[in-house]
Amino acid sequence: MEGCIFCRIVARELPADILYEDERVIAFRDINPQAPVHVLVVSRKHIASMLEPEARDGALLASVLEAVAMVSEREDIASSGVRMVTNAGRAAGQEVPHLHFHVLGGRMMSWPPG
Ligand code: 5GP
Ligand code: ZN
Repeated sequence: MEGCIFCRIVARELPADILYEDERVIAFRDINPQAPVHVLVVSRKHIASMLEPEARDGALLASVLEAVAMVSEREDIASSGVRMVTNAGRAAGQEVPHLHFHVLGGRMMSWPPG
């Protein structure tokens, strides 16, 4: 989608520190990390959020969880703990309207989230 930051990263028009990729997703470090490890797992396809019908794709979601597992192992946070979050819509704090999952680790997390 024209002008979408994550579509431009997927297309390699913008740089990103990529940790994992397969045919459905790409995972790269968040530019403004909220934890020692903060990676975004992003669908290659432009889907606005998890609430879109296109997000209900078992193969896509399997790739998301594969990426989370791979990143957690590579970044050495699997044993201490990992949080995956996706924001959908303004009230949830979604800033980039392209489906993505935050993968956070390397520090103690609080609950409930703010
Ligand atoms: P949201 O608020 O939509 O759930 O999360 C968007 C995330 O994308 C934020 O954590 C923000 O720091 C990150 N982000 C925004 N623009 C860029 C960018 O150009 N490159 C990278 N790597 N991350 C970005
Ligand atoms: Zn996009």
